[in-house]
Amino acid sequence: MRKTKILVSACLLGECCKYNGSHNRNEQVIALKEKFDLIPVCPECFGGLPTPRAPSEIRNGRVISATGEDVTAAFCEGAEQTLYIARETNCAAAVLKERSPSCGCGSIYDGTFTGTTVAGNGITAALLLANNIAVFGESQLRKLSDYLLFDEEI
Ligand code: SF4
Repeated sequence: MRKTKILVSACLLGECCKYNGSHNRNEQVIALKEKFDLIPVCPECFGGLPTPRAPSEIRNGRVISATGEDVTAAFCEGAEQTLYIARETNCAAAVLKERSPSCGCGSIYDGTFTGTTVAGNGITAALLLANNIAVFGESQLRKLSDYLLFDEEI
């Protein structure tokens, strides 16, 4: 039987695509592969940004790196490519890294590089949501399973 596909932040699966060259490996997210086909994505890599890279945060609607560079275009390109993959693979939902300026959903860093968060979505999460793809953070896996069980077409 074909498994339902879910888009997942690659860093949650252990890929070293995080800005500092590390990952955000999460065993609970990885365990989803027992039930679902996991489609790894890293919007910042898709946007052409190198790893490692300077961290970035969203400020006044723009994505600015810690070194002061405006990287909004790269983040938007990565978001578009992620949406394309989600559509092409017919993903039912996405599990994305919380608080990231790309992947964060509902809460993101506030642009001051102080670890402070504000309400908001990362560039990719916002684009997926605008295209009716449900996004869940790594701490919301219960919500994810509730969501998928409710959808009888999946
Ligand atoms: Fe992880 Fe998303 Fe950042 Fe890539 S863009 S490192 S997938 S949080």
